[in-house]
Amino acid sequence: MKNRIHDKFITLFGTGGDIYASAGRVNLIGEHTDYNGGYVFPGAIDKGIMLEIKPNGLSKVQAYSLDYDEYCEFGLQEEDAPSQSWARYIFGVCRETIKRGGKVEAFSCVFAGDVPLGAGLSSSAALESAFAYALNELYSNNIDKFELAKIGQSTEHNYCGVKCGIMDQFASCFGKKGSLIRLNCKTLEYKYFPFDPQGYKLILIDSCVKHELASSAYNQRRQSCENAAAAIKKNHPEVDFLSDAKRVWLDEVRDQISQEDFLRAEYVIGEVQRVLDVCDALERGDYETVGEMMYQTHFGLSRLYEVSCEELDFLNKLARTSDVTGSRVMGGGFGGCTINLVKDELADVFVNAATEQFTAKFGHAPKIYDVVISDGARKVE
Ligand code: ADP
Ligand code: MG
Repeated sequence: MKNRIHDKFITLFGTGGDIYASAGRVNLIGEHTDYNGGYVFPGAIDKGIMLEIKPNGLSKVQAYSLDYDEYCEFGLQEEDAPSQSWARYIFGVCRETIKRGGKVEAFSCVFAGDVPLGAGLSSSAALESAFAYALNELYSNNIDKFELAKIGQSTEHNYCGVKCGIMDQFASCFGKKGSLIRLNCKTLEYKYFPFDPQGYKLILIDSCVKHELASSAYNQRRQSCENAAAAIKKNHPEVDFLSDAKRVWLDEVRDQISQEDFLRAEYVIGEVQRVLDVCDALERGDYETVGEMMYQTHFGLSRLYEVSCEELDFLNKLARTSDVTGSRVMGGGFGGCTINLVKDELADVFVNAATEQFTAKFGHAPKIYDVVISDGARKVE
């Protein structure tokens, strides 16, 4: 990828620039916890965006996307927003950097990536954080890493119409090889934990389906969580988010909330605890417990939170019967990927079985991605 980018850069712009990269992400556990003030537990992966960049002394940014084979030029004022969607990410990062008092002048760049688009691995965060990091270094802006993540998040909000949380950009900016990062979504405190599963692979199986229910169901789940938290707060004023509640406090209000709200809350409170349990297990190098927690999360997402679907439950069940160590739906649900922790020697058999049986049942093949927990945004020497 680096050579392809550099060759194009030389062809278009004559002399070379600096090279930067960033990464997509996975979330091992901690699903639907972010808006409940709980933990998420992501890490950067070995698939990302790479770019070459140099200031050009002109009035316009010159950007070339190798993957789309498209060229775009744009100025740096608010009214200069480009129309190509990929270029809006770059423009947004420039604008958000400038809004924070950073210096950005016109530059030339070529970039490419290998994060599958729209598969739940956050190719967009990889793109944003690669540029946010590169501009920060190029113009010596000294913006701290958390703010770089927020530049990416604000880019999605203000220039791409996606009201996302901070997890993706956070993971992409802070990612470290061999480590996952536990982020407290309420306080934004974070801590690294070792994740170096010798003898296991992390394999994503993309169902390639996206059911329509997702956005209305998402709002209903949020409402249920708020209802449960509000009921608990009457007895325990310290509860601002559902993640602040103890399981027994939920039982106290069982008669005051709907059965549905109760089940949703039961999942969330359990999930917050599972993240902590997984962190403890990782400190012991106990990947079997990690895997068991992933299955518990899947059960909760499917039966209590009810955001799974037939395709994902099928993949999860197949993982169980194939002796896969851990498996669960990753992301909001109603489609997308399962994330699987698989012993090396079982990986091929599992992937083949999943591909064959899924295709036979649903009429299209799933996509398979191997991922390794890797470094996030960085300069490439
Ligand atoms: P994801 O879940 O992968 O983040 P999004 O829809 O949020 O999916 O972001 C995908 C968008 O990000 C693409 O439509 C494109 O505009 C941009 N993008 C991501 N990777 C690349 C790439 N390698 N080259 C050009 N644009 C990219
Ligand atoms: Mg995205």
